[in-house]
Amino acid sequence: MKSEYVHQDDIFLVGKRILLTTSLQENHLLIKNFWKQFNAKLKSVHMPLTQPWIKYGIMLREDTKLYYFCGVPSLNCYPLDFELFHIPRGAFLHFTHHGGMDQLPETITTIWKQELPASPYQALSSTICYYEVYEEGFMFQSSTSTIQLYIPIQEEVTPFAYLPAKTLLASQPRNSNANTWFGMDFNMNLYKGCCHGCVYCDSRSKCYQVADFDIVKGKQNALAILEMELRKKRKKGTIGIGAMSDTYNPFEKTQCLTKGALALIERYGYGVGIDTKSTLILRDIDILKRIAKQYPSIFKITITCAQDSLSKQIEPFAPVSSKRFETVKALREAGLFTGILLMPILPFINDTEENILTIVQKSHEAHANFIFVYGGFGLSLRDNQRDYYYHWLDQHYPGLRFTYEEHYHKCYSCNSPHSRHLYKLFVKECRKYGILYRMSDIIRAYKSAIPNEQLQLTL
Ligand code: SF4
Repeated sequence: MKSEYVHQDDIFLVGKRILLTTSLQENHLLIKNFWKQFNAKLKSVHMPLTQPWIKYGIMLREDTKLYYFCGVPSLNCYPLDFELFHIPRGAFLHFTHHGGMDQLPETITTIWKQELPASPYQALSSTICYYEVYEEGFMFQSSTSTIQLYIPIQEEVTPFAYLPAKTLLASQPRNSNANTWFGMDFNMNLYKGCCHGCVYCDSRSKCYQVADFDIVKGKQNALAILEMELRKKRKKGTIGIGAMSDTYNPFEKTQCLTKGALALIERYGYGVGIDTKSTLILRDIDILKRIAKQYPSIFKITITCAQDSLSKQIEPFAPVSSKRFETVKALREAGLFTGILLMPILPFINDTEENILTIVQKSHEAHANFIFVYGGFGLSLRDNQRDYYYHWLDQHYPGLRFTYEEHYHKCYSCNSPHSRHLYKLFVKECRKYGILYRMSDIIRAYKSAIPNEQLQLTL
């Protein structure tokens, strides 16, 4: 039987499940009848289906029980007795069953007993045993009917890819520090793409031309190029890392481009400014301390929501917010000038007083030097990045895209309707705790700190 390794995106479904038994024959009958009931239910509630139509059957194991779930792609409204079901993105082994539905159990047995053991892949230990896709080629008991089958498997380990690079360091305008992003003198990205999966990520926009943005690639010969550039520069400065890609992505653990770059930055007497959502920065805390002693340096941890459950939803592959607050605290305890990037704020989702007040409170508890909000509380949306975000809204907040369309049309800046009020509140709270929030004050504070003083923390 022919099989194919595929990588599938997240799939969101609505539908119903049935408890199965331990008998294959009995289950086949149960499933057939359940499909009849499910289809009748879809008809009775006039459930609109996607065009062309597509239906999913999922074999699930939860604790020791076996279930079968019948579902259709998630729609904005569905009956109250339906449940939402998520097939997480990942690797699958794909087979096509040819023939009627009654022959399906035989195909499934062959796959599990012969095909999968003979393949180079291993089934993933997950709730989903496999799922079936019924679409236009399905004709119930006809011998020409087809059903697609997908078995979750462990990811194929593909070698980490590198892209050719000619230069790394880009100089920043030197006219006025207040007008530059945290007073960086240079910027660089050691990686291209980012796998943290933030639903709002602006770097996905077409204008940046990053193909397959969610797949991280390294810059070839990055360290050799960097060393050559650092040696040639006449003036020292602070080097920003991580504007278009989180430099502490999971591949950094093994590729160590950031670690290598920090060693060069230390050797040539520069400072560093790092933006990240990752706890991996703590691995390099010793070298960061040495760099901060020799030249002004600043560390920014992005935190957009106080609740871990929400951060998991909107920044699915980055460490949750509580871990990021712990990271801020650890960096501060090491004497490093560290604060929070409170951006973006998603209108109608995390633009609440409670969210802002809790973030300021937790930042205070973590001894953050600053919290920075760019251009009011909101987010930016453009072209394909807007489509990506709206698609996510459809899955998680059905109907909310219409509110966005009504409020923002095709605008780039989408500020919360409560932006002004929230900003006032934010400023009041920052002042109460003595946390810096203005760009010019933040730059002045970290640039004017005598390096050794950055290490003296009064908690
Ligand atoms: S961490 Fe930054 S670069 Fe990475 S996906 Fe999130 S917003 Fe984009």
